[in-house]
Amino acid sequence: MYDPKSLKAEEFINHEEILETLAYAEKNKSNVELIDKIIAKAKKRKGLTHREAAVLLDCDIKEKNDEIFALAEQIKKDFYGNRIVMFAPLYLSNYCINGCVYCPYHLKNKHIARKKLTQEEIKREVIALQDMGHKRLALETGEDPQNNPIEYVLESIKTIYGIKHKNGAIRRVNVNIAATTVENYRKLKEAGIGTYILFQETYHKGSYEKLHPTGPKHNYAYHTEAMDRAMEGGIDDVGLGVLFGLELYRYEFAGLLMHAEHLEAVHGVGPHTISVPRVKKADDIDPSTFDNGIDDNTFAKIVACIRISVPYTGMIISTRENAKCRERLLHLGISQISGGSKTSVGGYAEPEPEDECSEQFDVSDSRTLDQVVAWLMEKGYIPSFCTACYREGRTGDRFMSLCKAGQIQNCCHPNALMTLKEYLEDYASPETRKLGDALIIKELDNIPNEKVRQIVQERLGKIEAGERDFRF
Ligand code: SF4
Ligand code: SF4
Repeated sequence: MYDPKSLKAEEFINHEEILETLAYAEKNKSNVELIDKIIAKAKKRKGLTHREAAVLLDCDIKEKNDEIFALAEQIKKDFYGNRIVMFAPLYLSNYCINGCVYCPYHLKNKHIARKKLTQEEIKREVIALQDMGHKRLALETGEDPQNNPIEYVLESIKTIYGIKHKNGAIRRVNVNIAATTVENYRKLKEAGIGTYILFQETYHKGSYEKLHPTGPKHNYAYHTEAMDRAMEGGIDDVGLGVLFGLELYRYEFAGLLMHAEHLEAVHGVGPHTISVPRVKKADDIDPSTFDNGIDDNTFAKIVACIRISVPYTGMIISTRENAKCRERLLHLGISQISGGSKTSVGGYAEPEPEDECSEQFDVSDSRTLDQVVAWLMEKGYIPSFCTACYREGRTGDRFMSLCKAGQIQNCCHPNALMTLKEYLEDYASPETRKLGDALIIKELDNIPNEKVRQIVQERLGKIEAGERDFRF
């Protein structure tokens, strides 16, 4: 039985409900009257149900699809303006006891170099990331209770927050580790993590079990119910995601939105972020062996439909995608991107030797952070290094209620300008700095409140004089 309030995976991600949703969407994909009604509802910016969203995803009428894309762009602008939040992944260890068939870290891969960073190595990596200008990290580790116990992750978080090098600081550590216990989630919360991210990979139970043949991750229910345990452990910002290409995308899309509805129904707060990775080439992994790959146009439609279905949820895209694809998706709804990323264990402080490759997937966007920042500004975006909400305690339902009241924008825009200014002062190349300073002057005029504009102007001067870390 489908029940969004249930705590049982197979009831809140209910297979029959998904099949019925897909049949309903298929039946109505040319139903103009219904599609118009759903688009009108989406225009109210309160989101859509998974059934409504599935109809829009299937819609095959060109004019209606143009409307859907235009609405996604408009909602993106209204909620996120032209700001793009920057982050970088930091891989701590690629030891893993799972058998995920799409990931090169799977246990049976005997030729990939296995590495685990020591605390000293983490320091070097973090200093290198700080020297690039990053303030926000996503920690990644494989699942291995012997090599990567929770104590190791907690110690690493402490190390990362403790490093103050020149004007650098990591101000928000998001964590992407395997599904774990309420007790461990509580420890992560106490360690001061930002978002807990866990990709579902696929919502289709049968496929999930085939794709995860061995190891603790094989347990579909334990994995799917992880966010509920995380919230029980006090983590109120959680990040969902599926790995597109493993299963039929329509199925994943419905499952993803049902998961978001479940979190809202049970905990009163939906996901903080949704990530949209696609299967990529990697050591031991050939993406063509997964026959559910999606083309760029379908991918763009998925992003647009997620954007209008959950307007308050940030959307993340990584360097798995190339610059061209990223640019298109930025218009349609993406609010966070990584830049200058390494997907190997180590590699920021010194490049990995070729015969010791430990990366999780091939990076399609290999530009430096400075190049990505300059590129974003040339395209009219404000790269933001803001981490203010988490540090001001605006998480979970406090964040969502501010966001739903449209208040977040009064913080985001000024914070973006001030953190960009810090970046320009401390890390940018002369060309990027020139571009950025001009952009800041222009964007100051877009702060509607005169008092706030004045404060920002004063603070920009103080940043030039060497002070750091202002926020609203
Ligand atoms: S996806 Fe995660 S759990 Fe699976 S093999 Fe890779 S690192 Fe391990
Ligand atoms: S003010 Fe909050 S929501 Fe806005 S960019 Fe900063 S951290 Fe994100």
